[in-house]
Amino acid sequence: MIYLDNAATTAVCAAAKSAAAEGFECFGNPSSLHGVGLEAEKIMRRSRETIAAALGVKDKEVYFTSCATESSNTVIFGAAAAHGKRRKRIITTTIEHPSVARPVDELEKQGFEVVRISPGENGIITPESVISQVDENTLLVSIMHVNNETGYILPVGEIFKGVKHKNKETICHCDCVQSFMKLPFKAKDIGADCISVSGHKLHAPKGIGALYVKSGVRILPLMYGGGQESGFRSGTENIPYINAFAAAVGELEPTIIERYETALSLKKYLCDKLSALDGTAVNSHEGCSPYVVSIAVERIKSETMLHFLESREIYVSSGSACSKGKKSSVLQELRIPAKYLDSTLRISMTSDNTREEIDALVSALVDGRDSLAKIR
Ligand code: PLP
Repeated sequence: MIYLDNAATTAVCAAAKSAAAEGFECFGNPSSLHGVGLEAEKIMRRSRETIAAALGVKDKEVYFTSCATESSNTVIFGAAAAHGKRRKRIITTTIEHPSVARPVDELEKQGFEVVRISPGENGIITPESVISQVDENTLLVSIMHVNNETGYILPVGEIFKGVKHKNKETICHCDCVQSFMKLPFKAKDIGADCISVSGHKLHAPKGIGALYVKSGVRILPLMYGGGQESGFRSGTENIPYINAFAAAVGELEPTIIERYETALSLKKYLCDKLSALDGTAVNSHEGCSPYVVSIAVERIKSETMLHFLESREIYVSSGSACSKGKKSSVLQELRIPAKYLDSTLRISMTSDNTREEIDALVSALVDGRDSLAKIR
């Protein structure tokens, strides 16, 4: 099979599988005071060091969560709980993942003032469009690093710098799910106070994520209980998956640039082939992440083409996995031409994909375009 839906989820790598197995063997509770617990605690400490080093932050600034959705919800509701009596304005964009968009909607219902920045006509969000909205009442700015539907890389570094310049109290949160271990960056490069990341997008299992919170940034916990994770995220820690997450990150970290280059050349190969074909379009513009390419085959509905490709054992996504066949408002916001909205497919790669796989995809798209157009 040819799997090109890596922005939805990835295959668990061998290192993560064996790290999870090690974690299952080491079954102690890291809070226990005896040796069995201590072994589990050691795994957790080592794993935290790995994730912290990959983000370029201190170990004590990294908290393990169940997924990036939990990480982002923690920041959004936790910031509101800590500071919402005094500051009520939240700034975000219209192209965020639902794990950010929905909690922000919820706070709006509770009386927070939400400013949602739309991309301009060219599909780009300018730093100024965000920074100009920051005032002394601004509690939180939550902006993603890489959009999951087109791979658009947002100028978060410039945005957060400008936000802090205007109001240093404003908490800057970045959803880095589609950039962590894919683009070469450290937390200081983007200047965010809080960063959400997820294991299953980078070859660890589903059900593990992490949240970076810069020292000194006050956010109240989402869950209260036994006081694990320095009281910030109660609940007995998932040692097998924490270990697997760190193992996957440990494997990827040394080769970020090399893998980026490989993905970039695969993307270019795909885009060149598509631009030579009639009736296909590439929605992702040049500065986008090489790992996500949004394309369209004119007049063929995304789902129809998706299932045609599936019949050839080629797996892609229609728009994004989270939109489940619904017309994506994010694609509209990103100014993808209306004629392509129903025909968009998301091709999301790893550096392990090959040119032969891209050849097979393109030839299946051509066959699909020709045969499906006849029965439309
Ligand atoms: N943010 C982005 C940009 C994503 O693509 C996803 C997953 O699709 C998430 C957040 C949610 O991650 P998780 O599945 O770990 O909750």
